[in-house]
Amino acid sequence: MTNKIAGKTVEEWKNELPELQQIIDAEEVFWVNPQLESCNNRMINTELGIADIEDAEQRLLRFAPYLAKVFPETKEKNGIIESELVSIPKMQQKLSEMFNQEIAGTLYLKCDSHLPISGSVKARGGIYEILKVGEEIAFKHGILSITDDYSIMADEKFRTLFSNYSIVVGSTGNLGLSIGIMSAQLGFKVIVHMSADAKQWKKDLLRQKGAIVVEHNSDYGKAVEAGRQQSQEDPNSHFVDDENSSTLFLGYAVAAKRFQKQLNDMKIPVDQDHPLFVYLPCGVGGAPGGITFGLRTVFGDNVHCFFAEPTHSPAMLLGLMTRKHNEVSAQEFGIDNITAADGLAVGRPSGFVGKALEKDISGVFTIQDDCLYRILRKLADSEGKFLEPSAVAGFIGPVQLNASSMGKDYLKNNHLEQKMQNATHILWATGGGMVPKDVMDDFYRKGANS
Ligand SMILES: *Cc1c(COP(=O)(O)O)cnc(C)c1O
Repeated sequence: MTNKIAGKTVEEWKNELPELQQIIDAEEVFWVNPQLESCNNRMINTELGIADIEDAEQRLLRFAPYLAKVFPETKEKNGIIESELVSIPKMQQKLSEMFNQEIAGTLYLKCDSHLPISGSVKARGGIYEILKVGEEIAFKHGILSITDDYSIMADEKFRTLFSNYSIVVGSTGNLGLSIGIMSAQLGFKVIVHMSADAKQWKKDLLRQKGAIVVEHNSDYGKAVEAGRQQSQEDPNSHFVDDENSSTLFLGYAVAAKRFQKQLNDMKIPVDQDHPLFVYLPCGVGGAPGGITFGLRTVFGDNVHCFFAEPTHSPAMLLGLMTRKHNEVSAQEFGIDNITAADGLAVGRPSGFVGKALEKDISGVFTIQDDCLYRILRKLADSEGKFLEPSAVAGFIGPVQLNASSMGKDYLKNNHLEQKMQNATHILWATGGGMVPKDVMDDFYRKGANS
């Protein structure tokens, strides 16, 4: 008997989707999503809307005085966790040279890699979910009201209450860091199930913050499952479900309106004649999905969101291509899910992101590990920005959009060819800010050899 993947054999899938062979062979691909639709006259998401994003924004505002108090690094922005947007002309030049390809338009780096508290994009979703859990418990016990100055949550009374509750999460590293740091700060007991990809320094840092780290020899999916199991046994336990959480998703979505303001302040236009391209590194899909949801809500059809995955972990790509989402995994197609991009080492995509955004994700492209290191080094040399390998996965997006046949078709079919000189390309940098110097030196060295 031949194993079936979501009802079909690999051969049947290949007949239906000829591009699959290259993906199975771990070659780099640039895939355009045929399900993409204009967002005029339709809801982007049937379950969540602008009101939910605004609710999340308001919650983060309520918590701002607390965050400013307990995390001094957020004080400057009054407790708002936000990152810079910077132009990177030297890197644009370097990329053109590396790939021998002109890039029309202007490249910017969105520095979520250097978000305060946990140094990655997870400081958006992860921290938001823990704050929401804390707020609910405090409301229920009548020690907090919505009009209070939330800086009172630093008081011992709150920490004592939260110590009766535990937070559990499964992670390849960065989600664990953001959940662990935030939970421990509020006073929760926190248990982080780490996959085999997780870097030692992330485990060490978490233990130092007071989190319990459970190490698994298996991949991300198994670590999440272990966390889910453990949490189910305890009614006072909250499981942060990276594969299904709409709370995490909304925390990420808050990025969009703030980003719009940033563009306005920098006088960067986005309209019919000035298209916006955003390249987002993708693991399980929550972070790039939440951000895409927000961006499509704010910019409509003027934004084009592409996800980037390692050639060895094309989870979202397979989910969208087959339209079977979390019913398929890279491993079932014989792809090993082994990559230096630990933040993206996910074989099976989220259960809801692909379905919810099937009409809003422009496409997915893949990148090889050695290329990640080369880009990491070039970016450090040219712009002095140090990112982790996962965080540079998006950088070949603007190159491939112009060079690949599917990329060219995308520009043509969407009447973008004549507008590319006016295009803004956003490389969403998702992590690296907390990487210890010796580990970063090692990444940098690898960029020369590969
Ligand atoms: C988690 C992570 C991503 C992707 O987020 P998902 O929600 O897993 O898709 C991208 N880059 C880095 C550095 C990450 O840690």
